[in-house]
Amino acid sequence: MISTKLQDAINAQINAEFWSAYLYLSMAMHFENEGHAGMANWFRIQFREEQAHAEIFMNYLNSRGGRVVLAPIDEVPTSWPTPLAAFEHTLAHEEKVTSLINNIYALAVEEKDYATCNKLDWFVSEQVEEEETARGLIDRLKLIGDNGLALYTVNQELASRTYNVPAPLANAN
Ligand code: MG
Repeated sequence: MISTKLQDAINAQINAEFWSAYLYLSMAMHFENEGHAGMANWFRIQFREEQAHAEIFMNYLNSRGGRVVLAPIDEVPTSWPTPLAAFEHTLAHEEKVTSLINNIYALAVEEKDYATCNKLDWFVSEQVEEEETARGLIDRLKLIGDNGLALYTVNQELASRTYNVPAPLANAN
């Protein structure tokens, strides 16, 4: 059985993951509207991944005899001045999510709840990847500046991204 304190922290994280999903869906809709179909595709996949993250936490809480409580999802921004601004927002947001995960980890260590530490390990690695990807795209967009052809190429590349079910969900059944 999981402690009430950890249960509350994981419920807050479930909400944060759904907020992330909502944020990236909003970015996808923004880029769709702006005619950047590749970026829209990339953020649609981000959206699905974040939903999967929430699902992993929900499954975990249930498996530990906890109670999942779905709270309202706060409003998200709806537009970004440039693609660079959207990816900079993505990085800043992922850095925040990393600190949230780290805080739950610290709590789990304090409570000697090693099963929760074990579950969080995947998220710790995932956050390194999320930040690295966003940082890489920011670097490229900064180099590109307002070069339309280079921006077109990045868009084409992001259009080819496909969704892979995250490992903890893929192995769940
Ligand atoms: Mg996430």
